[in-house]
Amino acid sequence: MGWLGLDDTDHLGGGCTTYSLFELLQNLPSDYQVNNFRLVRLYPFARRRTRGNAAVAVEILGQSDEKLIDYLDQWWVQKILPLKGMVTDSSISNRTQFPADPGMVWFETQPDEATYWNCVQREVTIDEIPNAKISWGGHGKIGATAAVAWPADTFTFEAISWRQQTAIDNCIPRRVDFDRLRELDNDPNIFMSRDLRSKSVLISPRGNCPVLFGLRAKTHQSALQGCKYLIDSNDTEPVVGNVVFQTNQATDDHLLANLTATVKNVEVKKRGTVKLVCHTGETLMAFSESGDVKLLAQWLKPDDKISYNGLLSPDGAIHLERIKLVEAVPKKQRPKCNVCDVTMKSMGKGQQLRCPKCRKTSNLDWDFTERIPPFMGWVQPPKDSLRHLSKPLTG
Ligand SMILES: [Zn+2]
Repeated sequence: MGWLGLDDTDHLGGGCTTYSLFELLQNLPSDYQVNNFRLVRLYPFARRRTRGNAAVAVEILGQSDEKLIDYLDQWWVQKILPLKGMVTDSSISNRTQFPADPGMVWFETQPDEATYWNCVQREVTIDEIPNAKISWGGHGKIGATAAVAWPADTFTFEAISWRQQTAIDNCIPRRVDFDRLRELDNDPNIFMSRDLRSKSVLISPRGNCPVLFGLRAKTHQSALQGCKYLIDSNDTEPVVGNVVFQTNQATDDHLLANLTATVKNVEVKKRGTVKLVCHTGETLMAFSESGDVKLLAQWLKPDDKISYNGLLSPDGAIHLERIKLVEAVPKKQRPKCNVCDVTMKSMGKGQQLRCPKCRKTSNLDWDFTERIPPFMGWVQPPKDSLRHLSKPLTG
């Protein structure tokens, strides 16, 4: 049979592409079998990105193509097309939004993986994507095609469960058994559930979307078992269903290789955001919410050597996702008088230094001392500021 891809059914204030797929599959005629649930995150700077910038795909097996396409046609018209044009009240978000423009694609075989790599690493236009056997809708066809084209060579899993409609309609706060979630920390295959530093819970989205939680894991089994453990608790609200998706989250697929550069200039801006200019001309940005990345960037001095990785933003600056000090220039200062412990001063160009107190002179021009960085090795933003695509340095 083939692959179904879906994207852009959500908007900032509600809806969720994973839920649209779940509903579509819930109602699929029973003689079809569904495999390979996929959740694929795409280029974080895409201009028309949706809330989480995620697209979904599944493989569908069965006897009759025709009956399936009829069903998809019908579902498209009744359930997905009405989502087109949805936007959020600007009181909820100030972010520039594009109205939802859902897309759905059907491929008999997966298209070339180049489509995926383009869609995860840069902006792609609708003319660049391969033609599906059948497609519906507009801009969302790009992400939908990328989700089908994903080669899934490296992957993690996310078990997603969805809330009951009454909870969504009445904006009832999410209820998840956090004691059980804490217990799941004992499973080394489960990751990014909680940020221990900020004590924030990372599995539940903010805002009024149908997702109750998404539990991330390195294995399908841990994702499924952990998800069931949370759902089975009386302290977790009832859900309408759950699915384990294979995902490109935490794979660093959006990044190219690490680079090395020498710092030319360090400028600390509002809220501690740092702009680094390198001798090779690149501009690197460490934003205020990037935690250790920002702190290390603030500490840097001209001529320090660093390794880094990040995403090229549309304005040409690289937004740092990790950074490491390779070599720091030593701190250069005037020596101190060994009698008075006062910093000696230069008496003029090419002349000796003199102690301003006892007037003793010195032939030594400068003292060089090693600068101790706040962090050794790679640092990255705190877990709650990490991109879905970024691979955590520690589980
Ligand atoms: Zn002195």
